[in-house]
Amino acid sequence: MARLFSGPDDKRIKRALCIVAHPDDIEFYCAGAVLMMTGRGVVVDFVLATSGDKGARDITKSRAKVAQIREREQELAADVLGVKRVAFLRHPDAELVESLELRKEFVAEIRTSKPDVLLTFDPNVPYRFHPDHRVVGRVALDAVWPSARDPLTFPKAGPPHETAEAWCFGGLQPTLEVDVGGVLTKKIEARLAHTSQTTSPQTLMRRWRAMARIEKFHQVNLR
Ligand SMILES: [Zn+2]
Repeated sequence: MARLFSGPDDKRIKRALCIVAHPDDIEFYCAGAVLMMTGRGVVVDFVLATSGDKGARDITKSRAKVAQIREREQELAADVLGVKRVAFLRHPDAELVESLELRKEFVAEIRTSKPDVLLTFDPNVPYRFHPDHRVVGRVALDAVWPSARDPLTFPKAGPPHETAEAWCFGGLQPTLEVDVGGVLTKKIEARLAHTSQTTSPQTLMRRWRAMARIEKFHQVNLR
C-alpha cells in the first residue's frame, strides 16, 4: 500500500481539489493547508455546491442577490489563497440531498481538476452538523472513489481520474494535524473577504489567532 501523504508539504502533491457546500467553508476548515500548497506551486481548485443563498439574516435581500454577493466574496478569498479556479454549482442552499445527479457533477469536476488529493467534509459527524456538509462529504467521497476512476461510470463527464487520497475535515477522528501558523495571517485575511458573514473583524481576528492555527483531517487512502 502506498505511503500516505505526510501533509500539505508533501512533494508528491501537485494538484488538489476542495469540494465544499458554502462560501467560507474552505476558509473555516482548510485554508491554511490550501495556502501551504499554493505557496509551493500546487494547483488548487475550489468547487462549491451552493452559493450560500440563504446565508443572510436580512430578509429584504433576495436569495439571488445574497448568492451574487457571496460568490464575489469567495472569489476574493480564493485570490488571497492563490486559487484561480472556483466552480459554483449553484444548488439551493440548505437543500442538498444525496443524488446521482450531484455525484455526476462532482465526478466531472474531479476529472477536470485531476487532483492528487481531495479535501472535503468528513461525513462521519455528530448530529448537529449542517446537513449540506454531511451530504457534500458523502457524495464527494462516492464521486472520487470509485466513480471518477471508472471509465464506464458517467462516460460523458470526462476521462477517468484516480485520486490518491481524500482529506476529510470536520469529523470526529482526525488522523492528520497541520500547524498552519506560518500562513495564519493570510488565512484570516481570506476569511475576512467574506464581509457579509463578518459582524466584527476585530473579534474574528482575535478569536482566529487563538483557534485557527491547527487544521485537522482524516486521511483516506483511495488507491
Ligand atoms: Zn457550510
